[in-house]
Parts: sequence; C-alpha cells; structure tokens
Amino acid sequence: MSIHKKSEVAETAEHGLETPGFSVGEILKQRGVSRRDFLKFCTVMTAAMSLPASFAPSVAQALDEVKRPTLVWLNFQDCTGDSEALLRAANPTVGEIILDILSVDYHETIMAAAGHQADEALESTITKYKGKYICVVEGSISMKDDGVYGCTSGKTHLEIARRVCGSAAATIAIGTCAAYGGIAAAVPNPTGAVGVKDAVPGATVINLPGCPCNADNLTATIVHYLVFGKIPAMDSKGRPLFAYGKRIHDNCERRPHFDAGQYVEHWGDDAHRKGFCLYKMGCKGPGTFHNCPTQRYNEKTSWPVASGHGCAGCSEPQFWDSMGPMYKRLPNVPGFGIEHTADQIGLGMAVGVASAFAVHGVVTALRRDKKPEETKEG
Ligand code: SF4
Ligand code: SF4
Repeated sequence: MSIHKKSEVAETAEHGLETPGFSVGEILKQRGVSRRDFLKFCTVMTAAMSLPASFAPSVAQALDEVKRPTLVWLNFQDCTGDSEALLRAANPTVGEIILDILSVDYHETIMAAAGHQADEALESTITKYKGKYICVVEGSISMKDDGVYGCTSGKTHLEIARRVCGSAAATIAIGTCAAYGGIAAAVPNPTGAVGVKDAVPGATVINLPGCPCNADNLTATIVHYLVFGKIPAMDSKGRPLFAYGKRIHDNCERRPHFDAGQYVEHWGDDAHRKGFCLYKMGCKGPGTFHNCPTQRYNEKTSWPVASGHGCAGCSEPQFWDSMGPMYKRLPNVPGFGIEHTADQIGLGMAVGVASAFAVHGVVTALRRDKKPEETKEG
C-alpha cells in the first residue's frame, strides 16, 4: 500500500478522479477550514482506515495535493436514511469537510435544481467526467418486469444505474438496500429488488452496508480512494475490510459477560441494568461484521449494543430474512474469536434463526463435519 506522493498526485492517470480545478487542500483553505481542523480530520480518517497513526501526515499531504473529485448521488428504492446520516453527522470536521472536498454535482435530495434542469446536470456531469467521477447509490434497484416498479424522471432505476454506474470510476453502494437489496428485497421481494452489483455486474462497486451506513465509513472510503488511488481491500461480500473486517461480537464491551455466561433474560431485569450480554435477547453481533463498537455513532458517544439493544445484523446480506426474528437468539454461536473474518464464518451464521431452528440438527452436523473444533453452543 502506498500513499500518493506529490509527483504521483500531479499525474492524473492513476485513479482518474482528478477534475480540472483546485486541489482539496486549496478548496479547504478557501472555505476557511483551519489547518488544525484539517489535520484533526486526517487523524480521524487515518484511524477509520485502520492505519497506524504515523500515516496521518502522509494522508494530509496526499489530500492537500489531490484534485477535487466529482460525485453524483443517486436515490433509488430507499428511505434516504444514508443521506440523512451524512448530512447530520455530528462531527463537523467529517461531515462538512467531506462536502467541501467533494464536488457533489448531482444529489436528488439536496440539489436546488429539479425536473429537466436536474436531468441535464446529471447528463452533463457523466458525459464530461466519463470514467472519472464517483457515483454513490442509495437504495435498491427493482429488476422485476424490466424495473418498472422504480422510476425517476421517466426512466427505470435499472436503466439509470446501468448508465451512470457503468461509466463511473467507482460506485459506492451506501446502506444495506444499495449493497444487497435491503428491506425491499425481503421475502417475498415483490419488485425483484437487488443491490447495485447484481443490477450492474460490470461496475466497480464498493459495498458500505448498514441501516444506515456510518457516515465516517463513507468518508474514510472516499479518502482512501483519493489517497491511495484504488479501492480498499474488500471481503467476499464487497465490503472494505477496514470497516467490516471484524465481528461485532469480538469488539463488544459486553463480550466478557458472554464468555462468563452472564446474560440478560428479560428487558429491564437486573442483568440488563448491569450491562450483561444481550445474546439471549436476540443480539446478532456474533454473526455480524461491522466496526460499530469501535467507530461508534454521534461523535463516538455510543452504539446500539452500548445503549442496551442487541445488534440486528443490519450490515449482512438479506439480514431481514436470515437474521430474523429480531428477538430470537442465534443458534450455534461460535465462541472465543475462532472465526476472524466474514469469509471464514461460512455456513453457520448465514442460516436464519427461524429456518435454523427447523434444520438445527442438519446445520450442526454440517458444521461438525467441516470443522469440529470450531463449534460452541451459545
Ligand atoms: S452477543 Fe451481542 S451483546 Fe453479547 S457480547 Fe456478542 S455482540 Fe455483545
Ligand atoms: S450494531 Fe448491528 S444492527 Fe446496529 S448498526 Fe451496527 S451492525 Fe447494524
């Protein structure tokens, strides 16, 4: 992994994202962002990318010099929760600086233009910066009946996605709906909803699932792309390892209680008040890969499990079906950090609670046959 040096940044070819105009550093200066705030931002981003703190000055130097990228943001079948998460990010150095860094040429929710003017803005951006812009997609894409169940401006979302994502340098599928179909894809999936990668197989897609996505992970992904000139290393589900490489369960502050067999049995009981493990209350942390316990939310003040509710598994594909019901515990939870990555976790946790109760014996036998030493009953 190498950070762009000055000469490399000056050459526009490597990641193709530079657009004519000012560098990120120049833009931030113009906007009155102090050097101190900028360096603080770079330190936060270096940590978010799981890099050693010593990389922060190099990240700052690369961001200083790289040209401002162009971005278009498409909304499909969604609740706009990911746009809200970014716009309402509590930390101004993340939320505001990234909006200053990016040239957001098209965002249906926040742009002033509407109707034909908006269509023209999108068309002109993707034509002018073909192969050089970043596309962010929020929401799933309807595939059934040629995509007629999701349309904007007289075009199906499928048609728009193929055109816009197909010509982007990279597409970030933000939120679980854009990544894997989300709630729209839950059984019986009446619109044939899928994520971006399934709708546009040839596109370069980075999945940032979550309901909503943590805005810091979006910012860190863009910063990674700007600084290193390539997409981050990803797991088999298309998620950056820096944000989704570790299991919730392995970083959870309630984990010592899980290991000690101290569980909440009823909401509001003494164990709940003492902060014991929420596994028996349906926590899906043992089968979920996301950096919620370390990255946290609202200026890092808290995250769902810390506030007393179990993880719902929102960053896993088809979690509405495979992780439900929400308050039923996962069967066959492996213990003590044996399965370290989503790719290794394999069969067991991908099986839904409801169906797993029915096929419990079969699944247990398969797991036992595969890796007998890795199964521990929770
Ligand atoms: S089961 Fe949930 S609450 Fe318990 S340790 Fe794991 S992630 Fe934390
Ligand atoms: S704790 Fe679980 S359900 Fe909550 S945001 Fe994180 S991954 Fe999603």
